[in-house]
Amino acid sequence: MLYNRTGKSGLLLPAISLGLWHNFGATHGHDSKRAITRRAFERGITHFDLANNYGPPPGSAEEAFGQILREDFAAHRDEMIISTKAGYHMWNGPYGEWGSRKYMIASLNQSLKRLGLDYVDIYYSHRFDPDTPLEETMGALDYAVRSGKALYVGISNYPAKATTEAAKILKQLGTPCLIHQPRFNMLQQEPLEQGIFKAAHDSGMGVICFSPLAQGQLTSKYLNGIPEGSRATVGQFLKKEQITAPLVEKISALNKMAEARGQTLAQMAIAWVLSHNEVTSALIGASRPEQIDDAVGALQNVKFAKAELAKIDKALNGSI
Ligand code: NDP
Repeated sequence: MLYNRTGKSGLLLPAISLGLWHNFGATHGHDSKRAITRRAFERGITHFDLANNYGPPPGSAEEAFGQILREDFAAHRDEMIISTKAGYHMWNGPYGEWGSRKYMIASLNQSLKRLGLDYVDIYYSHRFDPDTPLEETMGALDYAVRSGKALYVGISNYPAKATTEAAKILKQLGTPCLIHQPRFNMLQQEPLEQGIFKAAHDSGMGVICFSPLAQGQLTSKYLNGIPEGSRATVGQFLKKEQITAPLVEKISALNKMAEARGQTLAQMAIAWVLSHNEVTSALIGASRPEQIDDAVGALQNVKFAKAELAKIDKALNGSI
């Protein structure tokens, strides 16, 4: 594993981190969750990413990971970076989502209980709340650190301007913003295009990119149809209709380039994310331990020649 410095902080994060958004709810068996997290840790993935609402049902991924922490990783807490977030809908009524101090602190207390922890390493505001003063949301993050319930704080899905402002407020409060968590992959490049990487980098934050495989689209799995049990068959966040003929053509062209590099497409997709200077870590998901091995294999070759990058752009534009 490679470990990268997170922005201007003292914290090193693994170049590949594991997220528990999918495959860790009550719908999945405990053995598979154990196998995936144990394989990740064995391969040097020290960072596990959660949120209050991961499941289904919401909260169940934190509960499952809490059990794994107790049963499998009790002796390893200080070797792990565990994050959680609050921002999306978690409970009914006016205090169960967005960015108020009331919600942010109540949710953190609930997450700690589900995880069976005294503190998380990183606590995030999961989304920008246009109706709550940014000072209030950032004040809640600062309080989380001061009360010992989090070591660092981060923001996720924040636009560029709010990123700069959030960093400024947190700096004034004396709790620097550690990290930004946007979605970024070859098919979805908004953080680059909209100045989010630049805003985070200029503010001294690291960047951890979620869905580097575009939920599995940037692997070879959809080249010849939609395999049973794949995320597209679950159809909640990745729908079958998204696997279109033009997409498959792009994936096919990218797959050939990956082969020429001696990589799987998943490995090339992760390497491409990591080839951006601002990026600290690629935050993957996995439904099986073998997918962890595939991802870690990406680190064998994270360099791209200019001509290769140009060819990837061509494939993405559909002009190959
Ligand atoms: P990815 O883009 O890495 O997609 C992961 C999925 O791709 C796997 O579950 C699997 O799906 C498939 N896959 C993975 N490896 C392979 C492989 N080698 N070959 C074939 N298929 C593969 O990431 P996610 O979309 O899962 O997101 C990762 C994490 O990012 C989340 O768990 C969460 O922590 C974070 N996140 C944060 C968000 C935010 O708002 N901050 C939003 C979304 C995610 P299959 O079931 O088909 O096998």
